Amino acid sequence: MDRLKGKVSIVTGANSGIGKRTAEIFADEGSDLVLVARRLDKLKEVEAECAAKGVKVISVSADVSIYEDCQKVVKEAIDAFGKIDVLVNNAGIADKHRPITRIENDWWDHVIQVDQYSVYYMMKEVLPYMEKAHSGSIVNISSIGGVGCNAGISYSAAKAAVIAMTKNVAIQFAGTGIRCNAIAPGFIATDMTEKQGENKLLAFVPLGRMGQPEEIAQ
Ligand code: NAD
Repeated sequence: MDRLKGKVSIVTGANSGIGKRTAEIFADEGSDLVLVARRLDKLKEVEAECAAKGVKVISVSADVSIYEDCQKVVKEAIDAFGKIDVLVNNAGIADKHRPITRIENDWWDHVIQVDQYSVYYMMKEVLPYMEKAHSGSIVNISSIGGVGCNAGISYSAAKAAVIAMTKNVAIQFAGTGIRCNAIAPGFIATDMTEKQGENKLLAFVPLGRMGQPEEIAQ
């Protein structure tokens, strides 16, 4: 408890799965929160749940694949709290495991926008504030698909790029008080994997069970 007391954390994709559980655990640890997703009604439910734990929470409806929306998120965070200590870039979509010969260019663009550009946009907007404060922590949610590159072509490329951007930011800000790390989960039981069929996915999981959002959030 209270490991994040006095901190302000932005969590993208906070209305379901790993992002929702991250918001809840951060609230348990005392962090004020900026919750981000497109559907404000669902986000408000998470906001109410987190606020009931005694922290301050705002919700911002934004599509993180759009640069102007990411600028809006950071502006609203600064207007509300005056600082940003933690950024969790969690929002993302799956790519339906499409190989290069069966993906439309539009779909490639969409997955790269949501899973890769969003991380770049959010870090680009948040880092100047962390730089001024000489302090901050960024956590980017990549995927095992970005390590083994065994998902569809667009998801593999985007999630590998997330790891590359994470390492680059960590190197460029080393020694400044700003940390940047990535998490590359295996299969986690969320809306995303439910759509893909849990039984099919379990064939690839040595542990023999799906991970839980809690295990990534922690
Ligand atoms: P989820 O579908 O439950 O959650 C995804 C969240 O991202 C939702 O809140 C959704 O509203 C939000 N989102 C999607 N596109 C958005 C956009 N354009 N703008 C703003 N918000 C947007 O899925 P999840 O499993 O909790 O996924 C969270 C992250 O974890 C994703 O980045 C995903 O790639 C990654 N991940 C998941 C798994 C898994 O097995 N579930 C494995 C590895 C990595």
